[in-house]
Amino acid sequence: MDWLVEIEVECASCGEAFPVTVDTSQGDYTTMDDCAVCCRPMQVDVRCVPGRILSVETSAA
Ligand SMILES: [Zn+2]
Repeated sequence: MDWLVEIEVECASCGEAFPVTVDTSQGDYTTMDDCAVCCRPMQVDVRCVPGRILSVETSAA
């Protein structure tokens, strides 16, 4: 089973979508990521169970 899932998220700052890789093995978590388009940092809230993403929300950090 592969716990790493690649998804597209929408940047909270510039609105562009870009791919991020989510590690679903630990369940829900919050991480910081830099937008691949505008390079601004954002908070990424991941809700997941191992192997499956339930929802992902981004907010400007
Ligand atoms: Zn951006």
